[in-house]
Amino acid sequence: MATNHLDNIQGCYDVVVIGSGLAGMTGANCLARLGHRVLLLEHHFQLGGLATSFKRPGGHTFDVSLHGFPNGMIKSCRKYWSREIADSIRQIHDIRFINPEFQLQTTFDRTDFTRILQEHFRVPTTRIEAFFAHLRAMNYYDNDTRTTRDLFEEFFPARPDIHRFLFEPIAYANGSTLDDPAITYGIVFSNFISKGVFIYQGGTDKLVAQMTATMQASGVEIQRNCLAEKILLEPASTHGAPPRLRAIRVKSMRNGATRDIACTAILSNANIKNTVHQLIGTEYLSPAFADEAAAVRVNTSSAQVYLGIRDGYTIPPIGDLVFTSCAKPFSSDELVDLHTTSKTYSVYYPDTRPHTRTPRYAIVASINQRWEDWANLDPENYARHKARLTQEALDGLTRLIPDIRSCVDWQEAATPRTFERYARHWKGASFGTKFEGLKVSMELPNHISGLYHAGSVGIIMSGWLGTINYGVIVASKVDAYLRSPQKKQDIDPALDRTNQTDR
Ligand SMILES: Cc1cc2nc3c(=O)[nH]c(=O)nc-3n(C[C@H](O)[C@H](O)[C@H](O)COP(=O)(O)OP(=O)(O)OC[C@H]3O[C@@H](n4cnc5c(N)ncnc54)[C@H](O)[C@@H]3O)c2cc1C
Repeated sequence: MATNHLDNIQGCYDVVVIGSGLAGMTGANCLARLGHRVLLLEHHFQLGGLATSFKRPGGHTFDVSLHGFPNGMIKSCRKYWSREIADSIRQIHDIRFINPEFQLQTTFDRTDFTRILQEHFRVPTTRIEAFFAHLRAMNYYDNDTRTTRDLFEEFFPARPDIHRFLFEPIAYANGSTLDDPAITYGIVFSNFISKGVFIYQGGTDKLVAQMTATMQASGVEIQRNCLAEKILLEPASTHGAPPRLRAIRVKSMRNGATRDIACTAILSNANIKNTVHQLIGTEYLSPAFADEAAAVRVNTSSAQVYLGIRDGYTIPPIGDLVFTSCAKPFSSDELVDLHTTSKTYSVYYPDTRPHTRTPRYAIVASINQRWEDWANLDPENYARHKARLTQEALDGLTRLIPDIRSCVDWQEAATPRTFERYARHWKGASFGTKFEGLKVSMELPNHISGLYHAGSVGIIMSGWLGTINYGVIVASKVDAYLRSPQKKQDIDPALDRTNQTDR
């Protein structure tokens, strides 16, 4: 009789981490290093969540979310992972904008942005300096009610071209709009502009393999193909204390068997909406908190086209990250439209994976999309739109590499449905939730004793750097809870400053 892999799991842990995204893995690693017994559950056979890569015939490897992150990753990886991981982070230098309003090339750091704002957009130096200084001083605690649109109008009134230059790359990356809170733009943009854009030398597969080995050395027990199906609670106490968790119901993705595992704390790296609505169920929450959680909006989703370049072919240096659009003016609606002309090309030159047998070029086109436009397409229309996306990605590239079609020997598209299936994000969200999701995530332990959440929320706690830092912050709260298990933690709804220190 075949053995059930759930039988390998022990009966009880200090903490169960649901999901192996960057926040989940970082939280698990920190907690194991602090001496706790940690079980990491991942429904997929591969770890990393959206920080993932996949191989295809012909020697191709494609990265899904390795397009660029801020320099702060070096410090966070050195401190919470290893020097070896931190040392593989390197800067990309060639970032391009191609749209009907301007064509620009930049290293995407403060010095070069200042140059472009002076020379191309004719902005006085004092204004540029004031803008950057203002962004650096922005703080989560300020209770700033301005939108990003207000912020731009304050510093660069009636200059939609400048707004586009400053905002478009952030909007392409995290799906935020000019109507999101100014603080979300201020923190994310400042983090990038401080020293430029970085990627992981060796690719996401190397990073995840190194993180997996580090977690194992720290003592994390890792179980793949294990879906956390339900968080099981103690009956509510009679004297008004919030319900306390008791166990997690785990379902095997191989054979459908289930098993309940007892634990003192849970750190959920699943989407906050999935955590509240599926893993718990709002009937266990106060009506006010349940309403607040229900009102959390998720960010938009993505589509991608992966293009593998034939062995032996070379392509010219067209940039590392190329933001292209035919839209004039820039518009947040156009950016996510089913037929958007806006896309980012990430170009992976052979030096991305120098250790592989035949280092290759790969190009990934990333496109912001709405879940609703893809969710209910019938199979025929779904296939038709995927094929259209692929052709449009190739058409756009033809302007930069005229013979691109003859260079490509692998082409494939992913859609919001792909992201929903693999990372289980609510509506296939690429960057977690809008700003209000952060408060719900932070306050969760006030409503279910012992249950914590870390993962993409609030825009500022998203992306590789945001989620790693959030994993660290929440791990320290879980540690404090585990060290005083009888006490209910007083969770400060305000944000720790850790994620802001890299600016
Ligand atoms: C197309 C795209 C491009 C991106 N590009 C960049 C970029 O260039 N730079 C950048 O910084 N960020 C980028 N991001 C965002 C970044 O990848 C994410 O913000 C980050 O990786 C999310 O980490 P996370 O910790 O929230 O977990 P996630 O990556 O969301 O992972 C969650 C994990 O939990 C697992 N899980 C969920 N539910 C369960 C369950 N019930 N049981 C067991 N396991 C479960 C999932 O399978 C998954 O492994 C991109 C995202 C997308 C989609």
